[in-house]
Amino acid sequence: MSSRKKLVIGNWKMNFSVRQATSYAGKLAGKQIPVGVTVGIAPQALALSEISTILQKTGLKLAAQNGFYKDEGAFTGEVSMTMLRGISQYVLVGHSERRHILRESNDFIREKNAAAFRNGIIPVFCVGETLTERHNYHTNQVLSDQISLGLADLTAEEVSKTVIAYEPVWAIGTGEQAGPEDVQHAVEKIRTEVTQLYGEAAGSAVTILYGGSVTKDNAGSYLMTPGLDGLLVGGASLSVQTFWPIVEAAGESVPKKITVNKKER
Ligand code: PEP
Repeated sequence: MSSRKKLVIGNWKMNFSVRQATSYAGKLAGKQIPVGVTVGIAPQALALSEISTILQKTGLKLAAQNGFYKDEGAFTGEVSMTMLRGISQYVLVGHSERRHILRESNDFIREKNAAAFRNGIIPVFCVGETLTERHNYHTNQVLSDQISLGLADLTAEEVSKTVIAYEPVWAIGTGEQAGPEDVQHAVEKIRTEVTQLYGEAAGSAVTILYGGSVTKDNAGSYLMTPGLDGLLVGGASLSVQTFWPIVEAAGESVPKKITVNKKER
């Protein structure tokens, strides 16, 4: 698993005007993406269309921060996955800020995961326990419930393409850092849960990220977690200076293939 590509996605949340977002995307578009790393950015909805044009012919991927579960109709204010089709390759689903501030339920999230695949978009499906749940030793139960309910409408093939981000709620935007053993435990739990529900192939193929106060200083140690495929980054993704070193750390965590010099053969 350690030889797999790494994925780093920057969640810009509700930051930047369209002008600021496009200007920042333009700066990232000029960067050299390390070998073995996929990099995505998740700007605010109004900037997606323009940024998708800026990112054309760069390796950078685009993620929407949200998408509705119905494709069209009388849903005032919503943006459907159908509208995102062809613009963003990924969509965040079940982010803790939406679960807890906007009260999105596991059922709602399940329908969003299905809507994403129906429209050819990969969901970045976020799971994680609150501080109270952690203190009450409910982390395993929370992860198991969120995964079984959130993925219930997907086929094993779709699950194998899903990105699951373990984001302990107590570590998001707080500066609180999960320890390596917390992340390792969650990664193992998520893979076991997916394997039990969808089989060995899906369990080993599913992409698992960690997110929660990741910085350029701690990214390298998180990336050493066995079975972890990358990082979902919030606050530290808001500037080139704090985000790109995390992308570079992901590049350094990918084992270098031994290149054989043709002349030496
Ligand atoms: C996030 O928003 O997904 C996140 C992990 O935020 P932060 O890195 O700021 O904790």
